[in-house]
Amino acid sequence: MEVLVFIGLAVALVLGLIGFFGRCRACGSWAHAFNPGHAADIPKGKAYIVCKRCGDRQHKGELSSDGSVVWMSGGSGQFHEDGSYSGDAGTFADGGGDGGGGGGGE
Ligand SMILES: [Zn+2]
Repeated sequence: MEVLVFIGLAVALVLGLIGFFGRCRACGSWAHAFNPGHAADIPKGKAYIVCKRCGDRQHKGELSSDGSVVWMSGGSGQFHEDGSYSGDAGTFADGGGDGGGGGGGE
């Protein structure tokens, strides 16, 4: 049982760090670290991470004329003509996605 407790604490610590460093600078929303919005300014060649809570935009990526974006934090994605976005989340929160499965025990 101690191992599970330790894993739980480790996961909580990692999530806490991600939330702390990825929180919105404008409103302090920690959810912003895990579920950011994306916006593109194609004429200026800039891609933004947008806080879904307060709408604060931060320049976080470089945008090509074809809509592909390379995020400063690593990862890439694609903006479509209708303004939608697909691809990597573009934040270091990506790396934590694999740990949630757990289980596998009998
Ligand atoms: Zn915000």
